[in-house]
Amino acid sequence: MVCVTMTMKKLLTVTSNRIFFGIHMEKVPTFNVKLPSRSFTKRFMMESVPPELPADTVRRIAAELNCHPTDQRVALHLDEEDKLRHFRDYFYIPKMQDLPPIDLSLVNKDENAIYFVGNSLGLQPKLVKTYVEEELDKWAKIGAYGHDTGKRPWITGDECIVGLMKDIVGANEKEIVLMNGLSVNLHLLMLSFFKPTSKRYKILLEAKAFPSDHYIIESQLQLHGLNVEKSMRIIKPRQGEDLLRMEDILEVIEKEGDSIAVIMFSGVHFYTGQIFNMPAITKAGQAKGCFVGFDLAHAVGNIELHLHDWGVDFACWCSYKYLNSGAGGLAGAFVHEKHAYTIKPALVGWFSHELSTRFKMDNKLKLIPGASGFRISNPPMLLVCSLHASLEIFREATVKALRRKSILLTGYLEYLIKHYYSKDKSETKEPMVIIITPSHIEQRGCQLTLTFPNSEKNMFEELSKRGVVCDKREPNGIRVAPVPLYNSFHDVYKFVRLLTSIIHPAKTKN
Ligand SMILES: *Cc1c(COP(=O)(O)O)cnc(C)c1O
Repeated sequence: MVCVTMTMKKLLTVTSNRIFFGIHMEKVPTFNVKLPSRSFTKRFMMESVPPELPADTVRRIAAELNCHPTDQRVALHLDEEDKLRHFRDYFYIPKMQDLPPIDLSLVNKDENAIYFVGNSLGLQPKLVKTYVEEELDKWAKIGAYGHDTGKRPWITGDECIVGLMKDIVGANEKEIVLMNGLSVNLHLLMLSFFKPTSKRYKILLEAKAFPSDHYIIESQLQLHGLNVEKSMRIIKPRQGEDLLRMEDILEVIEKEGDSIAVIMFSGVHFYTGQIFNMPAITKAGQAKGCFVGFDLAHAVGNIELHLHDWGVDFACWCSYKYLNSGAGGLAGAFVHEKHAYTIKPALVGWFSHELSTRFKMDNKLKLIPGASGFRISNPPMLLVCSLHASLEIFREATVKALRRKSILLTGYLEYLIKHYYSKDKSETKEPMVIIITPSHIEQRGCQLTLTFPNSEKNMFEELSKRGVVCDKREPNGIRVAPVPLYNSFHDVYKFVRLLTSIIHPAKTKN
């Protein structure tokens, strides 16, 4: 208790002059939360926030080790103290020599790559192969008997592993279904939740939403014969800003909520890495009578989620980013239990039917209430296997512990980048590295989005040649995501060193 109080106090002091989770606390008139109560705060925002800000940890450890915070020893020490470091061994880490863009004259070919693109495609858990082989063997040996025998009977393969997803998204098992791909699931959910009327016909979303989400919303509007320009309400950042302000989102909801049918936001923005305050958006939207749903592609496995307690109406996510199930892996969807008997799937198939009578084949639909009723086809067995392997790792590690490490890991990356390339250096003509992602730890997950405004080099290409796996955003931005399951503090250290060797070749002679 004392410990919790101390933590809270410390956090409140350090957060007192900043925007808390994107909301100016004195400006939250649209719902009855002035200052979140301690339980609200603790439950929804700070569960895994460490008692000390990352920069303070880095400085403290440097002082203990009697070295500079940028010294390699700090990274090695952080790794040594990391209770989750053994999880790295659960994954295949690509080797430098196998990466297509590698320049072997610049690296040690046998070393591990610096894999910072787990926000786009997570690494392969070693157990995937075992699980896939188990089902392939079963198929080879017993064919159709595999439908209802073994560790993962194929008919109920998805149901065998759905329990492993519930703590990751904060939902009851009955509120979650594993099926299809993310975009398909978003379409299916929109078909049920978006029922426009002449007064309430808009869909609200953030600017620069992921292309698939943007197209899905466009096509859903067109499906209802609506004018896309009038009905697709996009909230943009203010001029000259990259991030959306929570107060601006709440203002649009307050002003236009009566004409909005569905609010469909991402939980974490794929480009900027900004976390949107899901409980606040849900509360504000529902107070205006809107349905509120989230695309959690970049949130799931990255930050803590409490979909049930937040009262979110629906959500969907893919499993191949932070959840490591492999490209095109089995996606997830959430429908809050309050809708289990009232919101029905618009499109049904035989797997929407209750299991007990499904195979009677009498064509009298007995719809499963809630999320499971949205299934149309039988589950893809091989995809169940890879997701099974990856979700077991999450059960062992827990999102809470991962998030705790993640805050420090990404905080360490931010600390080093700011140390070498902070803004005040812009007056001199020194190269700059700008971090677009919010610096408040409550407003970001693993990922930092970096731009290089006055660099002539193609940073992405230069990093790729040296074994950093990240991704590029035009014109000269990159996204880097140290992932707490398999990235180390030393990865971060090496990355920043490489960055410097590219930007200032003379300063870091090996
Ligand atoms: C990755 C991602 C997708 C991808 O959709 P798929 O159907 O899995 O191909 C969609 N939306 C967002 C926000 C994403 O980040």
